[in-house]
Amino acid sequence: MKICFASHNANKVKELNQLMPDDIQIIGLDELQITEDIQETGKTLEENSLIKARYVYDKHRLPVLADDSGLLVTTLNGEPGVYSARYAGLEKDDNKNMDLLLSNLKGKTDKSAEFQTVITFIDSEGDTHQFKGHVEGEIITEKRGTNGFGYDPIFMPKGYDKTFAELSSEVKNRISHRAKAIQKLLEHLHHVSQ
Ligand code: IMP
Repeated sequence: MKICFASHNANKVKELNQLMPDDIQIIGLDELQITEDIQETGKTLEENSLIKARYVYDKHRLPVLADDSGLLVTTLNGEPGVYSARYAGLEKDDNKNMDLLLSNLKGKTDKSAEFQTVITFIDSEGDTHQFKGHVEGEIITEKRGTNGFGYDPIFMPKGYDKTFAELSSEVKNRISHRAKAIQKLLEHLHHVSQ
């Protein structure tokens, strides 16, 4: 079975392909000649992930996957959330995003936060399934580490004394929000292929 992953990011497509069972092939948007960026106009991760999956399904009637992730900070009422990538502006600059978050957290004692991922899968019948993963932790006041991307240098997952950017990719890929959502998706695909 071919499943489209609603992303232009060739690395993400490749990574997901490697996790799939042999009878599932993941193809990216570029392979479907979809060149435009799908507008993420939703107010939640669930909505954005659904918007992306629906867009592709309505065009091609193919099974499709889409994901959306973000960082939700408790004391900021879930900010930056769905705006994580563009928190400090449309240039999507990781350092500016972290600086803005740290300045918005100045003077706050509650530094708890969590990363969330929502994966939407629309199957060949057009039925929609959503799989969620999260990882709890806290925001630290100075950036530490160089691995990863996004808010990794200021996020310390619960139970660890290192930030995501200090942990190896093996560890992060085992405990992350994305890994947990993908695991649930794989269990579903395995179950329906039995
Ligand atoms: P996306 O939906 O995977 O593109 O994630 C949206 C934004 O959330 C990213 O641009 C990052 O700012 C943030 N984000 C999502 N996942 C992570 C992560 O694992 N580490 C750090 N930042 C992340």
